[in-house]
Amino acid sequence: MSAYLMWAMGFAFSAVGFGLVAARGLIPDILSIEFSNGIALLGESAWIAGFHRMDKRRLNWLALLPPAIWIAGIGLPWIHESYANRVFLYDLAGAVGATLLANAVRPVEGRYEATRSQLAFVFMALAGVCLASSMSMILLRPSLEEALIYRGYSALGCALLITAAIVLSGRLLMERAERRWRTISITDMLTGVLNRRGLQDHFPLVVERAARGSGMIAALLFDLDHFKAINDRYGHQTGDIVLAEFARIGRQFIPGSAAFGRMDGEEFIAFIPINDQAEAEAIAETVRADFCRVPLLAGQSLVSATVSVGLAIMPCDIASWDRLVSAADRALYAAKRAGRNCTVVFGEAEATMATDMPPDPNGGELVPTLDDQIHALRRLGTLAQM
Ligand code: GH3
Ligand code: MG
Ligand code: MG
Repeated sequence: MSAYLMWAMGFAFSAVGFGLVAARGLIPDILSIEFSNGIALLGESAWIAGFHRMDKRRLNWLALLPPAIWIAGIGLPWIHESYANRVFLYDLAGAVGATLLANAVRPVEGRYEATRSQLAFVFMALAGVCLASSMSMILLRPSLEEALIYRGYSALGCALLITAAIVLSGRLLMERAERRWRTISITDMLTGVLNRRGLQDHFPLVVERAARGSGMIAALLFDLDHFKAINDRYGHQTGDIVLAEFARIGRQFIPGSAAFGRMDGEEFIAFIPINDQAEAEAIAETVRADFCRVPLLAGQSLVSATVSVGLAIMPCDIASWDRLVSAADRALYAAKRAGRNCTVVFGEAEATMATDMPPDPNGGELVPTLDDQIHALRRLGTLAQM
């Protein structure tokens, strides 16, 4: 059941409950006392459940505590026979409910919204007013007239606080909806990584992170090899699965400090704050090697796909989106020329010059593949043993 339905039920229960209370004298007491107050408190339970639902938390039976307290207590003759004592019980149950509401709106882990704290504060104030009203009935032992007056004041306080809570709940929902739309607007629908707009939004953050660290930033431009042929041979849908799989591998190996996303079609890019060139090469090679390691099972077909990587490195004080992308694009061009399924790197000097130079198909440096590196190490080991 959705949070909205729960809240609608909360309003409906409370309205029915208060309506029946107002009909006191016109309808049997059991309806205007026992049932009416119980149903009004059940409204509070529905509100609590609504907030749990909103955060996709499991529903908690504790939410039923307010009506349960009422049902448990109203059967006692000393409560049932006295208006002040009934108010004591009802407001005590209401205070428990308001405390549960404050707990239900507490900020979710990893996500902080100022409105939640304000809402929790309003619910705690509501609990305070209910508790004060409840206790005044027991401690001050008011006459019926006095009890009615006290109750009038506390009801007014509760009404004001509930109005504030409704306004704040509306604001909370609006903020959540806005955040959701914003996430959608910067996310690539097919692969779940950032889209171009998201990349552009996140780029300054990566530059900032790089500036706080070693001052170097790397752009890794990935372009799937012969992707048109994959589409032609296995169909567009299989192509989509390959794109999603590449994005999954990228997310797995590219560090969280980076901005990784889909530039366009079958091109992805990662901007990463790095310590040195070797670190960027290792990330590029890990993604490339993992992507071509095993053929991908898409539907009935086994699809082998590879990716070429253009890697450009720049100090963050001169790095701009245009310069980095343009340098990485030139490195990618060289990687395609070098036979695809490989990484070509434009080091600091080359990447910085690249925008002002005509494209040089032989520019860049081919990064040895992981296999090459392992072979080289083995050879060194063998030589050392001789
Ligand atoms: P190269 O190795 O030189 O990069 O060759 P390529 O075939 O990968 O490059 P090309 O630019 O010729 O083709 C890219 C293809 O990507 C063409 C287009 O139909 C396909 N494509 C772009 N976006 C999508 C998409 O969202 N889904 C699928 N399935 N294919 C896409
Ligand atoms: Mg392309
Ligand atoms: Mg391609």
